[in-house]
Amino acid sequence: MARLGWVSLSPALAPPGSVEGLELNTFPSLEALLEQPQGCDVVVLDGPPEAMGTAARRLRADHRYQLGLIYTSRAGDPWCAALCDGELPGDGAAIATAWQQWQERQPLFNRGQAPEGVDQSLLCWLWQRPGAAIQPVRDPGHAQIYRYPLVEAITADERLNSDGWLRQKEQENLLEGGDLIDRIRQCPACSSSRLNYVDVCPECHGLDIVRQPSLHCFVCGHVAPQQNFLKGDALVCPNCLSQLRHIGSDYDRPLENYRCRGCGAFFVDADVDVRCLDCCDVNQPNDLRVREIRSFRLSEAGALACRQGLGDNGAIGSYFRRLKLMDRGDFLKALDWQMAIARRYGKSSGSAIAALLGVRIENIEQLFVDVGEARATAMLEGLLERLQQIIRDTDRCMRGREDTLWLLLPHTSARGLDRVRERLQEGLERIQSSAGAAELSLKFVGCVLPEQIQDDENAALMLARLAGDLR
Ligand SMILES: [Zn+2]
Ligand SMILES: [Zn+2]
Ligand SMILES: [Zn+2]
Repeated sequence: MARLGWVSLSPALAPPGSVEGLELNTFPSLEALLEQPQGCDVVVLDGPPEAMGTAARRLRADHRYQLGLIYTSRAGDPWCAALCDGELPGDGAAIATAWQQWQERQPLFNRGQAPEGVDQSLLCWLWQRPGAAIQPVRDPGHAQIYRYPLVEAITADERLNSDGWLRQKEQENLLEGGDLIDRIRQCPACSSSRLNYVDVCPECHGLDIVRQPSLHCFVCGHVAPQQNFLKGDALVCPNCLSQLRHIGSDYDRPLENYRCRGCGAFFVDADVDVRCLDCCDVNQPNDLRVREIRSFRLSEAGALACRQGLGDNGAIGSYFRRLKLMDRGDFLKALDWQMAIARRYGKSSGSAIAALLGVRIENIEQLFVDVGEARATAMLEGLLERLQQIIRDTDRCMRGREDTLWLLLPHTSARGLDRVRERLQEGLERIQSSAGAAELSLKFVGCVLPEQIQDDENAALMLARLAGDLR
């Protein structure tokens, strides 16, 4: 029976007498729970929204409660949303079911090994909650405005830069960014977003500028504030003393509407200086760093890595290694070489120089979930065998991001490329029919040299362009 810890964060709130199907332990404060050596399986925080948010932060920073289920008794603040598992899912039976699902997933992480270090802890937190995301919270008091409470709490001892960590894991293809939530500008010196945009004089960058309607004398060209021209009820140029009667022929109003009280300059538009309120650095708006704010979830490759083992012994890695893979640098060199040949001779010879094929397994993580490890592994083995049959000695392979394979096929035309694709698909159908309903779904992208090379494109750019079509 799961041990439920009910924490009352306000003396006015009485805990329930019992929760059906669960062993209820009540605590009058968060400290009381943390002091209890035995710990609880599931925690419920009961209190005002902000108190629940603060308590959730402390719980997630404590290694005993980093990964477990934490519910709130009512709607919490944004910190609760980023750190907890939501409001109570229902009665004791609903909590028990959630706890059971959580427990069933636990041994599937990293081949049963407990998460080590903050990297694995954060990945494991996501792994334990399919579909969950690491959410940002807006905090105007903080220099960077947006924070990731979960990363901060779990990495509390390490003082890790949460934004940097998330982007690093995104580059490693373990995490993927969700919807764009906001875009903010940062001081390039200290990364603060507490910035003041001030209008200044374009000549001396002084702050003291005023809007001042002016006149422009056509007789002598003098420009001065409007009131300097007023003589009784007539307009007289203070410089050449001509009387100005008609706007358009004697004088006009210049576009320069601002005046600097420091250096006396007249100007049309003020410049904008950006002053950092934290480090006092002054920058032009264009020099600010732009930061996109997103939530982050486990990518398919990340989920697979969690299941198959983090580190070098990931499963797809060991399958792909059997294909005599080239490393990225060598593959790019080989592709650049073929592209150069194609550019030089391809158009005149009229024959195909080479083709590039990208293959991505779209649903590998889902497959492991649907048919179980043994059958999913067998299907991958089958696919690999098929690939080994198709690939010729002169072909070159490289593994792209986790679940993508690139094949460079010399002397291959568009028709030849289609045939390779068909043979792979045929092989796949054979594997599928022996594996029942489950389907391994492949996505292809191809490029024939020289016809489909774009101008000014090198191997790396071409791969990046094609990889976009595989996503
Ligand atoms: Zn000035
Ligand atoms: Zn004049
Ligand atoms: Zn700064």
